[in-house]
Amino acid sequence: MKSDVFYFTARTHSHEQSMSKFKGPLALKKLGIEQRIKSGDKIVIKTHFGALENTRYLRPSYLRFLCDYTKDLGAVPSLAESCGWGVPESVSGVHTEYSGRATETEYLKTALIHGFTEETMGAPILMLDGEDGTDIEIQKINGKRFNEVLVAGRLRKFDYMIMATHFKGHASAGFGGSIKNLGIGCVSKGGKVEAHTGKTFEFNFDSCNLECKNCINICPTHALTKDDDNKLSFNEELCKFCYMCASVCKDEVINIGHVPRVEFITQMVDNAKGVVDYFGKDKIFYINFAIDITYQCDCTGGSDIPFVPDIGVLASLDPVALDQATVDLIHKSSINPHSILSEVKNIPMQGPFEWFSHIPRYDPQSREMNFNQDGKESKHWETQLKAAEEIGLGTRNYNLIKVEIEKDN
Ligand code: SF4
Ligand code: SF4
Repeated sequence: MKSDVFYFTARTHSHEQSMSKFKGPLALKKLGIEQRIKSGDKIVIKTHFGALENTRYLRPSYLRFLCDYTKDLGAVPSLAESCGWGVPESVSGVHTEYSGRATETEYLKTALIHGFTEETMGAPILMLDGEDGTDIEIQKINGKRFNEVLVAGRLRKFDYMIMATHFKGHASAGFGGSIKNLGIGCVSKGGKVEAHTGKTFEFNFDSCNLECKNCINICPTHALTKDDDNKLSFNEELCKFCYMCASVCKDEVINIGHVPRVEFITQMVDNAKGVVDYFGKDKIFYINFAIDITYQCDCTGGSDIPFVPDIGVLASLDPVALDQATVDLIHKSSINPHSILSEVKNIPMQGPFEWFSHIPRYDPQSREMNFNQDGKESKHWETQLKAAEEIGLGTRNYNLIKVEIEKDN
């Protein structure tokens, strides 16, 4: 059984072919959204506003036109993201390339700098897991690694979801598309941590610094307290698993795990399944904007030159078919001669070629870029697609339906 994937090329000869104003909304129309939603339905458009210094996130007008389109259909749209891992820079005092996304307050400031406000979008903007990532719904699943997923809790307020995803590379996941927008983007702050680390959350109480109250001050739920003797205690019943306490503990009292890349991908896909099971498979419309396809994700400040030319807008009701089709179109393309891919030895410049197998990675240990010059292929992009298919998120088989604006609409 194949899933339909609608494809609008990035080639644009006139304003009627606008990628933002027409192709985005038309992609939703092709998915049958007009037959599904009723007047007054609440729709959340889930996207990524970009890390503070990122410059390749989706331009605001792509999202504004989706908001306007859903309003024309009588729906009530909101634009959403979810809190990033860690604590705000105002607490940590440390600026990193991931900065600017730790809480709703902090992320809305970044969103504003990037052009996303209620005024520019014509719709409210919110973090799906609340101010500090503790608004959660726990969804049971039969995953490969997880039996519970920390779904972003404010999803409960919406009738339908549009996953408006900027498609690009990703250092750990192989690529970042709709599956990742579910498994990282629609879980809580702690759900993101768990995808990266597993569910290890251990306290080495004996190492606790008697003078310190860092974790107590940051904990939004008062799950951590100290008694009169400054002895730390943890009330798991109150904990909402934001893991901010682990981020502020400098004495290795609060320990979270570390997992290799394949485990991260497996856990991210488990998360994605939890989100779909919670929200409802038939209530999600997926769009990939395959433009500005950088080798790194929007969650980093390092926005390089896109490594292939723009591909276009793709849409499906099946996130696996959609991501597979987008990967395949990128692999058919040739690489940008000025991009980082051009520095990778022993690969061609012309496609078709599996570019995602050769995406360079920054090695935090050596603090150097790994250009895969040892010739080893990284098939993590395929690991993600296989895992998503195996867990039942969709199929890798698809019908690619190219839509010509003039002829078909
Ligand atoms: S104990 Fe830690 S993980 Fe739990 S809510 Fe408090 S800060 Fe978050
Ligand atoms: S942050 Fe670490 S050292 Fe400080 S009180 Fe909490 S557990 Fe103890």
